[in-house]
Amino acid sequence: MKFEALKKETVMLDPREGMSERRIPSEIRLDPLTGRTARICHFKDLQWERPDLEALVAGTDSWCPFCADKILQVTPCFPKDLVPEGRMQKGDMVLFPNLAPYDALGAVATFGARHYIPMLDFTPELMASAFGFALEFFRRVERSGHPESVYHIINWNYMPPSGGSLIHPHLQVFSSSSAPNLMRQELEAAERYLERFGSNFWEDLTTAEEELGERYLGKIGRTRWMTTYAPMGVAGDVLAVVENACCTLDLAPQDLGDIAEGLARVMAEYDKMGIYSFNMNVFTGTEDDDAFRLHLVFSPRTYFSLQLGTPDVGALRNLYNESICMAFPEEINELLKKGF
Ligand SMILES: [Zn+2]
Repeated sequence: MKFEALKKETVMLDPREGMSERRIPSEIRLDPLTGRTARICHFKDLQWERPDLEALVAGTDSWCPFCADKILQVTPCFPKDLVPEGRMQKGDMVLFPNLAPYDALGAVATFGARHYIPMLDFTPELMASAFGFALEFFRRVERSGHPESVYHIINWNYMPPSGGSLIHPHLQVFSSSSAPNLMRQELEAAERYLERFGSNFWEDLTTAEEELGERYLGKIGRTRWMTTYAPMGVAGDVLAVVENACCTLDLAPQDLGDIAEGLARVMAEYDKMGIYSFNMNVFTGTEDDDAFRLHLVFSPRTYFSLQLGTPDVGALRNLYNESICMAFPEEINELLKKGF
């Protein structure tokens, strides 16, 4: 496993130190699978400003379409051949078609009736239950023989900095024959990796990370956790790889519990850094795709300027897909490791 980086150094005369010469290191890292580059810089402490969340949330339940008094009136239903009861329900969780679809078979699943769930209130049990609910939908899609039953994807935008437009916590759940960009690049690169080296990339990666130790977090069940070598998030990314699972439908209830347990640990540690928002995506192969291993990426989100509402994605990331991480993933690992 090659972990490549171009090391750079900026020389400047720093006004904060009487215009004395200052040398600032940075790195351009290559993702070991796809070659996608990520810039690692180091100019701030791993601490972010958090708004008054109670004030942010106050009153938003009055117009929330996912709250219990409205959800069964304002959300759409599936056609009878897919979900005869219209919407799926499990306890107080509801799964229904996405009113703003970006693929043929897209659903939204709520975490229940509670309008606002602070990040630290997501217990492993609650998350495992929501993921299991999404899987029930995928199994129905699979049984229906739907042509879009190829990649079964769960995405999570939690709180506004992540792109979440509602406070009420929910998952994006969709099945598609069209893999999104980065997932498609991974699928193709994993195929080439298997052909070239005769082994599975993620098995080699997790073995290498475990041996190196500097980004490795630990193992829960058959799920291995680590900070990503070339992250996309400004506060690093956390990667979880599920051993021997090729696709979402390979996940057993025990795996969902293990994934949820790891996520709760990661959230608890990022919370200490002031992070209160994140994206989480599942990356899946197709059934029996032995070049692939199911993995998920947890990526903390924040604002560059809380006062102005400046997102943490600017021109570099939006139009070049070139990411900037504000700290070395190995330093972030030191902090996250406390939870593992
Ligand atoms: Zn609500």
